[in-house]
Amino acid sequence: VLDVLVHRRNDIVPWDMAELIKGAPIAAAIEASVREEVSRSGAKVHLVALQAGEDPASDAYVRRQAQAAERVGMRYSVERLPASASETAVLDAVARLNRDPSVTGVIIQLPLPPGVRAEAVQEALDPKKDVEGVHPASLGALVGDHARLVPCTAAAVMACLAATGKDLTGLNAVVIGRSRIVGRPVALLLVQKNATVTVCHTKTRDVARHLAAADVVVVAAGRTALLKPDQVRPGSIVIDVGTNEVIRDGKRSLAGDADPAVAEVAGFFTPVPGGVGPVTVALLWKNAVEAWRLQVGR
Ligand code: NAP
Repeated sequence: VLDVLVHRRNDIVPWDMAELIKGAPIAAAIEASVREEVSRSGAKVHLVALQAGEDPASDAYVRRQAQAAERVGMRYSVERLPASASETAVLDAVARLNRDPSVTGVIIQLPLPPGVRAEAVQEALDPKKDVEGVHPASLGALVGDHARLVPCTAAAVMACLAATGKDLTGLNAVVIGRSRIVGRPVALLLVQKNATVTVCHTKTRDVARHLAAADVVVVAAGRTALLKPDQVRPGSIVIDVGTNEVIRDGKRSLAGDADPAVAEVAGFFTPVPGGVGPVTVALLWKNAVEAWRLQVGR
């Protein structure tokens, strides 16, 4: 899919000085290939979202997942537990889904009820059904360069980078953020592409000094407008993972971790919303197909 995208340069639209990397066409190409794979599987791919309790953001996410599942022709269902569910009850549900051969992939919807440890629940999942790529076995495989289920956001960052058509070999990359599901896997994937990677976090002494040498910046800190235009090298590639809720003109909207004026300096830039986000969602479906393949030994 990415090879095709690299050659579809008209998907990257000039915007001020930076070329804007739009997520929608990248996501559409991924969804098209998933649709084909799902039909080839004989509709055997079945994704289950495990949701405990009620949360408006999680409910909205589940609704969007159901719509997207329909678009790609994938069987999708939701296993609901009450908000009062204990960790044992959630772990029992995971064990049931692990044993059920008709279930080929599981998404653990966050947040879980108070007192239920997300990491314990994620670790209890069969790694072959780990469509989000968050199980320690999936992350370990990433370190060993043989991952098949890569955390979706990290994979989305790489898909956006691939859409620039640039070879990352020898480039200096700075990742701001070291979380288990975004910053760290992105750093490993960049190393796989032969970039020289620096990971910055809240204890980094001088982030700006590292940024001054960066050809590629991936910002995943969850801080609105953390990355300023004067910190970015002209012509560099900036991938903004941040999705921060902000109020604009009295309305809720999303803002990234990069100041939008970064686009006046960067060579390539992902907008928020409409950049990494839609690609992340499409890659969840790609992982769902990959999980099914793992289970049938393909
Ligand atoms: P997280 O777990 O809160 O991690 C944030 C990381 O950023 C931490 O490593 C933190 O450092 C670092 N950080 C925070 N402030 C910083 C600063 N001022 N300078 C340098 N480093 C700083 O967040 P996450 O789950 O990785 O998510 C990051 C962002 O991506 C959030 O906005 C989230 O909503 C967004 N996100 C988007 C998608 C998508 O599909 N677009 C998917 C997932 C997440 P320490 O480790 O030192 O605390």
